Amino acid sequence: MSVTYDRVALIGLGLIAGSMALAMRRAGLAGEIVGTARSAETRTIAAEIGLCDRVVDTVAEAVANADLVVLCVPVGAMGAVAAEMAPHLAPGATVTDVGSVKAGVIAAVAPHLPDTVHFIPAHPLAGTEHSGPRSGFAELFDNRWCLLVPVEGTDDAALGRLRALWQGMGANVDVMDAEHHDLVLAVTSHAPHLIAYTMVGVADDLGRVTDSEVIKYSAAGFRDFTRIAASDPTMWRDVFLNNRDATLEILGRFTEELFALQRAIRKGDGDHLFDYFTRTRAIRRGIIEAGQDTSAADFGRGGKP
Ligand code: NAP
Repeated sequence: MSVTYDRVALIGLGLIAGSMALAMRRAGLAGEIVGTARSAETRTIAAEIGLCDRVVDTVAEAVANADLVVLCVPVGAMGAVAAEMAPHLAPGATVTDVGSVKAGVIAAVAPHLPDTVHFIPAHPLAGTEHSGPRSGFAELFDNRWCLLVPVEGTDDAALGRLRALWQGMGANVDVMDAEHHDLVLAVTSHAPHLIAYTMVGVADDLGRVTDSEVIKYSAAGFRDFTRIAASDPTMWRDVFLNNRDATLEILGRFTEELFALQRAIRKGDGDHLFDYFTRTRAIRRGIIEAGQDTSAADFGRGGKP
């Protein structure tokens, strides 16, 4: 694979930035990778483990002469970081991000950027419940989707170059508009996370089943909820605050369906339950056939970080 960008600046050095650094290095996609993070602790760890070629103390130093700048901070922090880096961006650079919400990030970031740079928001649909500079791994994006969300008037060549980077890191790439992205992600990621958080909270509150019983017998479905509910609180707070409308729409529909299933259980309407579960089982098969998960009983996650 050939060098796609001469100097890549990673702003924020957690799971996604770390995985990008390792995936870029694996395929030789970047001439140099420069990184920075808010805390001295994270910068020290990143330097110690050699996550980037150079770890620097400030956003200004990181973006200097970079032809690609990637914002890898929580969605709610993107606007402030964009304002801080804007005066130091090299003309012709591409600025992108990896935020889980797109319309809110575009509204927060775009106003700060000079006309001389290309802004191409992105979202890799890959992650784990782990965070921080030690949590990244080079295979995170392999065979996962990365959605590029170009704003109006995006330069085709700049878009093609970013597409090539993500493909080089192992991802499949699609292009989508921001509003549609946010609705799709509300269904596939944001609402499910909220439901998992709720279920784990309910189990924690339930006095009649002890915590040790919940932990001991969790393999029967609950375990996957706990994995999701262990995700980073800052990141997920920001996702819900910034994808409010789409998440509320999906949760409204979810509540209606839940009430219908509740009624079916109360009335003993087995046909309703059976038909519903038959339909949902087909969706699971579709995900496995699309290569986005495995049919292994532990969802294939057993050995993964
Ligand atoms: P992470 O591991 O928690 O790392 C976040 C990084 O952002 C850290 O370096 C942190 O700095 C920095 N940061 C946090 N708050 C900040 C602030 N207020 N100002 C400046 N920097 C700040 O997070 P991540 O999982 O890589 O997520 C990064 C982005 O990717 C988020 O926008 C998230 O929505 C998106 N994303 C996440 C996943 C996932 O599953 N995790 C998947 C796809 C996309 P310190 O370490 O110094 O605190």
